[in-house]
Amino acid sequence: MARSRRDILSGTARTHEASIGLLGLPFDANSSFRRGPAKAPASIRTALASASGNAFSETGVRVWPSEHVVDLGDAAIPPLAGEREPLDAIERAVYSALARVSRLIVLGGDHAVTYPVIRAIAQHRRPLHLLQIDAHPDLYPDFEGNRYSHACPMARIMEEGLVERLVQVGIRSVSPAQRVMAERYGVETIAASDVDPRSPLVFTAPLYLSLDLDGLDPAFVPGVSHPEPGGLSVREVLDLLARVQTPNWVGADVVELNPDCDPTGMSATVAAKMVREIAALMLARAGE
Ligand code: MN
Ligand code: MN
Repeated sequence: MARSRRDILSGTARTHEASIGLLGLPFDANSSFRRGPAKAPASIRTALASASGNAFSETGVRVWPSEHVVDLGDAAIPPLAGEREPLDAIERAVYSALARVSRLIVLGGDHAVTYPVIRAIAQHRRPLHLLQIDAHPDLYPDFEGNRYSHACPMARIMEEGLVERLVQVGIRSVSPAQRVMAERYGVETIAASDVDPRSPLVFTAPLYLSLDLDGLDPAFVPGVSHPEPGGLSVREVLDLLARVQTPNWVGADVVELNPDCDPTGMSATVAAKMVREIAALMLARAGE
């Protein structure tokens, strides 16, 4: 991997400028159906380190292990449902992680983690655009009385105006209440039936990717809490991400892996591949 222009100019390896941190958020207290994603960071790390694969992305970028990607470990998060305290712990963990690395890849956790993650990132980065790959919009005003449910993070993000644009891809399970919210906040929806991975998604601001693994078809990723048939293939997601245009990838999360539903480990293998390919996209951008 070539050093970034800034590193070359400064004459020193400023890994802080070019590095990516992996941060585990082992938290699933706001899952509405099954628990399990709290175990996902460990599963993804195991799959990343497995000798079945190697350190390189499909484009030949050395990702893991490499000097450009550091594991920041797991955040300590109190396992409380529907309360602010765990979200504040996540926000603080992300905020301090961003003092050490320039980009973050979050290993969820259920999708509830994305709201506090974006709160922290939006303090550093504005304007900010958000690309969500998911079967579900996660736009419920509340879900069974829980405003912090994993069915609600995008509602909280849009209410607080934390991003200037939200594009959702792979959606195929929408309730009327969520349609109302999508219209209210101008959320752009690309339904699973309309996805064209060859057509570039163009963003004019720095971009955060939130990858809910149930956006993929359960044939590829059965190990999720809410499998929804009719989703994207691994290849389609990779092709779509490779064609995304943005001035900068500022961060990403890979959420909703449920190791309890993943007896073969294949879902964790897909999650690890996504981490590797997302990191390669970030590093390619850093090296420009
Ligand atoms: Mn989701
Ligand atoms: Mn989902």
